[in-house]
Amino acid sequence: MAAVKSVAKPTMECETEHFLAAQRQLDEIAEEMCLDRELHERLRYPKRALIVTVPVRMDDGSVKTFTGYRVHHDVTLGPAKGGIRFHPEVNLGEVSGLAMLMTWKCALMGLPYGGAKGGIRCEPWNLSAGENERLTRRYTSEIINLIGPDKDIPAPDMYTNEQTMAWIMDTYSINVGHTVPSVVTGKPVSIGGSFGRTEATGRGVAYCARRAVAHLGMTKESPTVAIQGFGNVGSVTAKLLHQAGYKIVAVSDVHGGIHNPNGLDIPRLLAYISEMGKVEGFAGSSAVSNKELLELPCDVLIPAALGGQITDANAKKLQCQIVVEGANGPTTPEADMILHERGIMVVPDILANAGGVTVSYFEWVQGMMHLFWSEEEVNQRLEQIMGRACDQVFELSTKSKLRTRLAALRIGVSRIAEAKRLRGLYP
Ligand code: NAD
Repeated sequence: MAAVKSVAKPTMECETEHFLAAQRQLDEIAEEMCLDRELHERLRYPKRALIVTVPVRMDDGSVKTFTGYRVHHDVTLGPAKGGIRFHPEVNLGEVSGLAMLMTWKCALMGLPYGGAKGGIRCEPWNLSAGENERLTRRYTSEIINLIGPDKDIPAPDMYTNEQTMAWIMDTYSINVGHTVPSVVTGKPVSIGGSFGRTEATGRGVAYCARRAVAHLGMTKESPTVAIQGFGNVGSVTAKLLHQAGYKIVAVSDVHGGIHNPNGLDIPRLLAYISEMGKVEGFAGSSAVSNKELLELPCDVLIPAALGGQITDANAKKLQCQIVVEGANGPTTPEADMILHERGIMVVPDILANAGGVTVSYFEWVQGMMHLFWSEEEVNQRLEQIMGRACDQVFELSTKSKLRTRLAALRIGVSRIAEAKRLRGLYP
């Protein structure tokens, strides 16, 4: 018999630039921690990925088809958990890369979940409310075999919200014949959502900032803070840090930023935004661009808008001591190295913005128990979990001289690896 010709390693359909970046991060930490080669290989790809075609009756009577995805990266520790996004750039690679990050994030926080992500490629801003609802419901029915409170629990992500979760919950419940609130998190409180969920990510970011300040032994009474992005995450972070006595010297939104080195009056700014819809023009502040904001002198810089904001082009110019990543992936790998070399502490995204998934976990637990907690109890438990994760990451980073990002990843990856090793390989 002729010898089998060696062929190039097959590539997976998900191997887009976005996915490969997530994979490279795993490869880097796998090498550093001498991860078992076979376990490493198993973790480099999603466990399962579903692509669905979603036909929707549009308001004008025509039928339009959309492409939807749901990916489970790993389910070793429990059901898969991750958001659903509606965006024109959604593709298998993006969803697969984000699912992988969810695996590490949940494991780092000690939550009994694996990582998932889903999405529909669409322009949500061009859909009417009715089209959005029909799209959501049909997508739910197409992925219904994958989701469930013990299998995979979706949550909101870009351009999806608590209304989207209510429709998913309703569609799933009608199909199984009874109400199942715990099939999603991020639902409205009136149908089983949790108190404190909306503010959870910002609360976690603010908490991480305070822990990082304490870790560095900063003794200033009012550390200064600049925040890029003033949406859900940025505004809650600003409000809570302001309440804690920090001086918020600059904030921004998509239109641009504002600066006052003596500190912005955050309660007044929040009232101003609810009226004007943007931060620009707020009394007692001067205008700064989003780019300039990142380079302002401050103790804590919080990117809370988009990915890829701190790059090799501006990392050398940052004048902060701490970066707390509210956004997903705001720092490029090259910039991460520069910040490390400059001694700037980074609280990485999988730790800093994990407050959302942590309170999602509380929502799921409360739904399964049919027993609901007060907002105070939710916030207290959130701080307990965030505090434990911060301590573990800061301690490992100091002890092993690892970048904080790698320390966080290492904790997450090693928990999954240990669970996989103990469970063994079937059959
Ligand atoms: P959001 O839509 O509520 O707010 C986004 C903010 O960023 C807005 O103020 C917007 O004006 C601003 N923005 C948009 N484009 C910008 C640009 N080009 N330059 C500067 N600012 C710009 O979103 P959010 O929920 O606050 O999420 C912010 C980030 O946090 C995202 O990266 C998201 O993935 C991440 N995140 C959010 C959560 C959550 O629970 N909301 C959880 C984890 C991670």
